[in-house]
Amino acid sequence: MQKDASSYNPHIIEPKWQKIWSAGNLSEASDFSKKPKKYILAEFPYPSGLGLHVGNVWGYTVGDVLARFYRMSGDNVLFPMGWDSFGLPTENYAIKTGCPPQETVAENIKTFKEQMLSLGLSFDFRREIDTSAPNYYKWTQWIFLQMFKKGLAYKAKIAINWCPKCKTGLANEEVLSDGTHERCGAKVGQRELEQWLLRITKYGERLSADLDKLNWPKHIKDMQKNWIGKSEGASIKFKVQSSKFKSNSKLKIKNENEEYIAVFTTRPDTIFGATYLVLSPEHPQIEALTVKEREAEVKKYVKKSLAKTEMERASVDKEKTGVFLGSYANNPVNGEKIPIWVANYVIGGYGGGAIMAVPAHDARDWEFAKKYGLPVKKVIVPSYKNPKFQSASWRTNSNGVFEGYGTLVNSGDFTGMTSEKAIFAICKWLEEKACGKYAVNFKMRDWVFSRQHYWGEPIPMVYCETCAKKGAAFSKEIDWDARGWFPLDEALLPLQLPVVKDYKPSEDGRSSLSKALDWVKTTCPNCGALAKRETDTMPNWAGSNWYYLRFLDPKNEKELVSKGLYKYYMPVDLYLGGPEHTTLHLLYSRFIHKFLYDIGAVGTDEPYTLRINRGMILGEDGRKMSKSFGNVINPNELVEKIGADSVRMYELFLGPINGTYVWSTVSILGLKRFLDKVWQIGQGEFSKDNEDVSARFKKTVYKVTEDIKKLKFHTAIAFMMEYVNSMSKSNILLAVEYKEFLKLLAPFAPFITEELWHTLGGEGSVHKQPWPKYNLALIKEDKISISVQVNGKFKGLIELSADKAGDRGVVEKMAGKIEKVRDTLSHREIKKAIFVPNKTINFVV
Ligand SMILES: [Zn+2]
Ligand SMILES: [Zn+2]
Repeated sequence: MQKDASSYNPHIIEPKWQKIWSAGNLSEASDFSKKPKKYILAEFPYPSGLGLHVGNVWGYTVGDVLARFYRMSGDNVLFPMGWDSFGLPTENYAIKTGCPPQETVAENIKTFKEQMLSLGLSFDFRREIDTSAPNYYKWTQWIFLQMFKKGLAYKAKIAINWCPKCKTGLANEEVLSDGTHERCGAKVGQRELEQWLLRITKYGERLSADLDKLNWPKHIKDMQKNWIGKSEGASIKFKVQSSKFKSNSKLKIKNENEEYIAVFTTRPDTIFGATYLVLSPEHPQIEALTVKEREAEVKKYVKKSLAKTEMERASVDKEKTGVFLGSYANNPVNGEKIPIWVANYVIGGYGGGAIMAVPAHDARDWEFAKKYGLPVKKVIVPSYKNPKFQSASWRTNSNGVFEGYGTLVNSGDFTGMTSEKAIFAICKWLEEKACGKYAVNFKMRDWVFSRQHYWGEPIPMVYCETCAKKGAAFSKEIDWDARGWFPLDEALLPLQLPVVKDYKPSEDGRSSLSKALDWVKTTCPNCGALAKRETDTMPNWAGSNWYYLRFLDPKNEKELVSKGLYKYYMPVDLYLGGPEHTTLHLLYSRFIHKFLYDIGAVGTDEPYTLRINRGMILGEDGRKMSKSFGNVINPNELVEKIGADSVRMYELFLGPINGTYVWSTVSILGLKRFLDKVWQIGQGEFSKDNEDVSARFKKTVYKVTEDIKKLKFHTAIAFMMEYVNSMSKSNILLAVEYKEFLKLLAPFAPFITEELWHTLGGEGSVHKQPWPKYNLALIKEDKISISVQVNGKFKGLIELSADKAGDRGVVEKMAGKIEKVRDTLSHREIKKAIFVPNKTINFVV
């Protein structure tokens, strides 16, 4: 075959096609098209000053291959992109340089978009959204108002993680396991602040249970379930015995509940073994329950504990410390007087921040009890009769602490019962005596939804002192003390973020908005008196938890999304993203979605049909890519060096998309050589005969198609490489076959295929061509024979393609058509069918 002198030059062809494509409409989804819809969503980025990283490029290329493939297969593909542009780095940059965040964001978006286009990513940019644009955050604010009106957004004074350097409150997920702030590296402390919270715990049950409806990978569902942390047990009230409540008006007992300590336990069967109570350092009743003589010590201890983050306190090997409050409570089942302690091993948010300690049956309680000389009382023994508990050591640790279920001893009327029965019986007893009940608890907390920052969505709430004094509240349906708080009239949304000069938070930790006095000053929506706007803004996650909805209808000024478009495009068919968003972003967006469903704003209660996490790409030295290691690969530079098609091919060729890979600059050249070869073949001579394509090619079509559907891009590329090798060896090449091959390669390497397609006289864009078809029946090598039996006796064989031979339904149906089988089965009842995928099916009659 003749070699042409012209060589593959991505620097010429890539910018050329980029320009031509931008002028066309290759990637636009068409609303209400009769074609089947496919919504492919890739997590939109935070447009940082650093530009796209190779991990982004990987995820986006995966989405792009799928989008291009499904478009060619005849689907109406929605593949949108936008910007998650509120956030701290931009604000920190503004504080440092004085450059307004609005300008920085616009600049960064421009860079990101150019990078995406240079990579040939076929996003539908007509639908571009930007979370910091007022016409977008209008709807983020609208959602907040609906939540407030339903009592799901509330204000509370809580101990929060506090970054002293950024002067802001942080969610747990923003604090690294070493107790530092993920963004700035400063040591995080605790601080009590009035915050807005969203009541996600109210949706805990549904967020957990509805995962079972989703056909997601198990590990992703497990991670979510674990994060939600649903546990069943009892909420039990322990009556406080000491009446040394202070008469101090500040601590005046608000309601009768304060004479009790409410604890949550998953093991009510162990209640007779409860020998002390423990409150978390942030527990609101500590002050009231501390006797005068112990006040100083308790205060000192609480202060010291709160300076640490929950994560530090919760770590298992952490030494357990505590202080006795001097007061006692009564165990409701036996009236025993037990001491009340405050200790660092109990966490504030969990089960109300109080536990009953059962040292004989809980290792942590045991450790604490030993250290402080508290009594240990055994109330459960292993049930030897139960085969599960044959070994006495089952779940008994080296200290002899038995944590398993067993049989109750020393437990009054409940002695002799199994744990399982006792849990139920004790709950019932507590309920009858009005001192406890069955309860569900979640590890997940309500979502802290305010930040003391400038660069975020303003919270559209107004506080009126006059109304607060009169006790006026927005609605009686709201079950928290919302006196004085009023929502902005929805017609006034968006509440725009004012332009300021000074971005620094105030010294008392409030956002710099608190210094924009003209903006803060407003009139009360209720009484018209002078009032103040909320100066906290929303957290980073606020705009990103519902963005997938806005792509459907980005310009709608009347609704967040129209019902018709929602019905047409939703749910998202595939959501691609980073593993770091499995619990938080995904959970928050499922929560917001369910809420929108409850208020009738959307039509279904789950947003994503399938979620896939991509893996990680490490630096060439095997370490995480990081500026400090100097091992960051810049995709921009690579595109300039070897072209976008090679970069795309390389990342897709790494391996399964959930793996972890070490970057290799040498390997990337291999992909470049593959494209060189494809190019060279395209410059050769072709037979124009209208012959049918080769069997080898048909097989390649089949393999590539199936692999794309299964997201196995690395093997799809391997098959194409194999095919190209065979092509370069053959003497006669059919133009028709080569052009079909270009279609197969087009989603992976969009630029080179477009250029070659036109060189060979192809009409229109290669990306608008129908996807090559294959006929399974003609791909003989892939047939698998399955033996069909009735009662173990061979009745015949059926032949199936590899992708069907494991499908029970298909095999059963085909087997039933064999004459001998049909005859045997026609007058008998099938008891069951034993199916061994790819091998046999045996009908038992
Ligand atoms: Zn910080
Ligand atoms: Zn008022």
